[in-house]
Amino acid sequence: MISFPPPSRLKKSTTTVKPNLHQIRSDFPILSQKVYGKDIVYFDNAATTQKPKQVIEAILNFYSNTNSNIHRGVHYLSEKSTEAYENARKTVQAYIGAKHLHEIVFTAGTTAGINAVAFSFGERFVKADDEILITHMEHHANIVPWQMLAERKGAKLKVAPINQNGELILDELEKLFTPKTKILAISQVSNSLGTVNPIKEIIQIAHDKGIPVLVDGAQAIQHGKVDVQDLNADFYVFSGHKIYGPTGIGVLYGKEKWLEQMPPYQGGGDMIKHVTFEKTTYNELPFKFEAGTINYVGAVGLDAAIEYVESIGLEFIESYEKELLTYATEKLLRIDGLRIFGTAKNKIAVTSFLLEGIHQFDVGMVLDKMGIAVRTGTHCTEPIMTFFGIDGTVRPSYAFYNTFEEIDQLAEALVKIKVMFG
Ligand code: PMP
Repeated sequence: MISFPPPSRLKKSTTTVKPNLHQIRSDFPILSQKVYGKDIVYFDNAATTQKPKQVIEAILNFYSNTNSNIHRGVHYLSEKSTEAYENARKTVQAYIGAKHLHEIVFTAGTTAGINAVAFSFGERFVKADDEILITHMEHHANIVPWQMLAERKGAKLKVAPINQNGELILDELEKLFTPKTKILAISQVSNSLGTVNPIKEIIQIAHDKGIPVLVDGAQAIQHGKVDVQDLNADFYVFSGHKIYGPTGIGVLYGKEKWLEQMPPYQGGGDMIKHVTFEKTTYNELPFKFEAGTINYVGAVGLDAAIEYVESIGLEFIESYEKELLTYATEKLLRIDGLRIFGTAKNKIAVTSFLLEGIHQFDVGMVLDKMGIAVRTGTHCTEPIMTFFGIDGTVRPSYAFYNTFEEIDQLAEALVKIKVMFG
């Protein structure tokens, strides 16, 4: 079962109207494209999602009518731009249930958010011999910044293990917490295996030991309801482009109590109150962490993306994608010699697999020629591949605009590929 448990303080909507899939697909201009003369089947949604015309139009409209640098001008356009940017912050706050508006910091994406925390939190709270805890299923973006911090400070990076299903071994994770642990950085959902971690429970365990938690929400935010207060996350990061928004914009949510104590990680315009050559005083939250010209147009696009996702409905997205996952898993497992990596009980719609005797790149390249876009390789999770003793997988990942027919096409294509490669 996929469970993004409904946050306890939110009421479940009782007025879900099932959206029309044909209508949904017509919102995404790219999906009507042909590649190599075939209707495109886009199954690379974990890498990036496609953009609905509502997002594209919001960006076009903003550049056509509103654009001016934010926070700097007293003129009409600058005020309009600033208003649109700050409205986007309000939309994000409401979407993830943050207590304060100033706990929402715009970044360039998940990677930027994790690096910001690793640097800034690290500067303030991590010293030699301290420990930073991550898990074996992290994306490189949630490994390398912590490794860099550990090297800078002489701290130690510890890694919680996973089992053969690609699930975290919670008992082992718990054993790794020590009085020296300064932070746990963990993904809510694994991008290559699809595993959904019991993140609320994990945060509770960490908090019982006084340890703050950064949640990498890059693969969670687009699949179900996230409420940072309900989760009690200390930090939550995600990217706009994974939730049907533009690239180059992302969100770092941090609890006020942490952000207040952390130093800025970049200096420049907008993050200051006063500058003299002797001393600079910093701006208040969230601007302390938003140096230079932020991708404010990206924020406007993200605002439109969140509005779009909400118009489709998270309940529908979650239940329909679950159906796609069940269908795809059954279809793929019928193919002789196909092994799925990532068989956690609680998964999002990702089916990483290998076809026995055929290299993943060959599978990906032939699928491409058949009009089917999937990702191949390590998916920026080399340690997971090492764990399974493989050098990569083929990873179809599904979104609410995908169809059962497209999954049939994938399965038929794989059978053909098996025949082609003997
Ligand atoms: N974490 C996870 C789990 C991801 O899937 C990704 C993107 N593949 C990232 C972090 C990095 O996101 P971005 O490249 O948007 O910064």
